[in-house]
Parts: sequence; structure tokens; C-alpha cells
Amino acid sequence: MKYLTTFFTTLLLIALTACQPNQEMERPPQDEKEWSIALHGGAGYVSKDMPEDRKQAYMESLEEALAIGAEILENGGSALDAIEKTVNYLEDNELYNAGKGAVFTAEGKNELDAAIMDGSTLNAGAVTGVTTVKNPISLARKVMTESKHVFFSADGAETFADQTDVERVDPSYFYTESRYQSLQRALEQEKEESFNTYKTDEEKAWRYGTVGAVAKDKDGNLAAATSTGGMTNKKFGRVGDVPIIGSGTYANDLVAVSATGWGEKIMLHVSAHTLASYMQFKNATLQQSMNYLVDDVLEPGDAGFIAVDKYGNFSMKTNTGSMFRAATDSEGNKEVGIWE
Ligand code: ASP
Repeated sequence: MKYLTTFFTTLLLIALTACQPNQEMERPPQDEKEWSIALHGGAGYVSKDMPEDRKQAYMESLEEALAIGAEILENGGSALDAIEKTVNYLEDNELYNAGKGAVFTAEGKNELDAAIMDGSTLNAGAVTGVTTVKNPISLARKVMTESKHVFFSADGAETFADQTDVERVDPSYFYTESRYQSLQRALEQEKEESFNTYKTDEEKAWRYGTVGAVAKDKDGNLAAATSTGGMTNKKFGRVGDVPIIGSGTYANDLVAVSATGWGEKIMLHVSAHTLASYMQFKNATLQQSMNYLVDDVLEPGDAGFIAVDKYGNFSMKTNTGSMFRAATDSEGNKEVGIWE
């Protein structure tokens, strides 16, 4: 009798399990775009009352950066080349917090972080705390392709740079008056409140401005790149999310992701990898995965992301109020914008 009860209980359990609705989402079959690219120039809060000429300067630079990457991809170039050259342009533009125009550390220096990842090989390169490399993303790419390692920091990254042909500059090259004034404001404000507390949206705005790009090329390869000066008033040796593979930068054969925003929050949620994992293990679409990360995992005001998937879909989303961004693909879809 005991065995019979066990037998029927087991049968019942099997039947119940079989009747459970499938919790997995179905990623619908999708048309593939030949290539696509998305870029960001930082997330934060930018007032809609921004002076018209400044707004125009941002919009024009986003368009120009996008055109660089799109042309490379249209001509059959690699996703890696497209994102490196796109990010180089943004690094050289002092509107953005990367390369020229990087924010200042608490000690009044510019210490730059960057990472790049090749989704087709899962290889990556990253640097943190570099002070004399004009385009840190190009150094990160060389870490990926010309070293046995993935991540070099500070003096070590400079020593590695000595062994490459990347362009070097005097640290004073990175100085911009507006970023220096931002540091002065941050130092003043810090006297009045505890470290890393943001009272108003306006205060958040001038701490951000990282740049990034993600792309899919005609061969179907995905790649991601992010470059930054970090956060204004960052302390002694602080490393943000950007150069930490899986946090601010990640690519595999399914999706490429680049982040911007409050680095500490982004890295605590291993954000870029979380998006990729959600997509993979839930069979979710790119947009479902982006919504999960931005709306459910992170909190309002934390961060924004750009991503491109293997079908060539792009997605750009922030919960900070604004994100400088642009994207386009081989079908002529295009988006350039600042506010949510
Ligand atoms: N995420 C960057 C950092 O924390 C800052 C930014 O995106 O603006 O270093």
C-alpha cells in the first residue's frame, strides 16, 4: 500500500509539472539587419533649457560620430574598427568626459579608464588610471590584441603603452576649464555633505559624460567599447565600471553592451553582463532585457545603456532623465537624441 501511494504521488507530481505553463519567453524569429551601431556620450540629467548652441554642438557631434562608425560598417569594416574610430572621435571632442574633456579626480588630475570587447572571440582589453594616452580605447584594444593579459592599471598601463605606438600627450592636454570648475564645485559641495551623496539632478549632471559604442558588422560579429574620465572628484585610485569587463562593457555572440552613469551602481549589478545573461537564459528580446536592467535591476537616476544584438537590433535606454546617444543600421533606421 505504501509503495502504491508513493507511486501515485510521483505520477501526480509528474503530471502537475508537465501542466505548468512554460516560464521561458520565446524570442521571436527576427529579420537580420546587415550591420548596426549605437553610441552614447554619457547619461545623467541635462536640463531641457540647455542653451541652443550647446545643444546643437552636441547633436552635431553625435551625428558626426555616428557617421564615422556607419561608414566603416557599410564598407564591410569590422565592428571593432567601427567602435574604436567612433570612440576616438568622442575622446577627441572636449564636450565629452573621455580623452580631452575628461573630468578631474579629487587631486586635480585626469585619470582615464577604457575597455573594449570582441564578442566573436570573447577577448577583451582594458586600462585604468592612464594619464598620458591620448586615446585610451586604442590602448585597450592593444591590450586585447598585443598582450597576454586583459587589464592593466596606472603605471603598468603606461609601461605597456611605452611598448606600443599609441599617441602620447602631456597630462595637461586633458585640461578643460569647465571640467576644472566642476571639480571646484564638487569640492565645495563635499564640505557640506557626505561623500557621494547627490542632492539634486543638476549635481548628478556634471559628474557624468562617458562615451561608448557597440556594433554588429556584416560578418555578424559584435563588439563593445567604453571610454571615460570616470566621475568628478573621484578618490585615490578609484576604478569605475567602465574597464571592468561585464560591468560597463561586455560583448558575446548574442549582444554587445556599453554603460554610462553611476559606476559604483553599474558594477554592483555587473550590469552589462546581466543584460546579456537575461537575454540568453530567458530567451528574451533585446528590448525586454534592456527594460529589465534599466527598470527592475537599477534604480531611477543610476545609469543608461546602449546595446546591439546579433540580429542587428539596437536599444538605448536610461533612467537618469537624459543620455547623449545615436544609433543607425543598414536598413536606414536612425535615432539621435538627448532626453528620454
Ligand atoms: N560610469 C562612469 C564611471 O563611473 C561615469 C560615467 O558614465 O559618466 O566611471
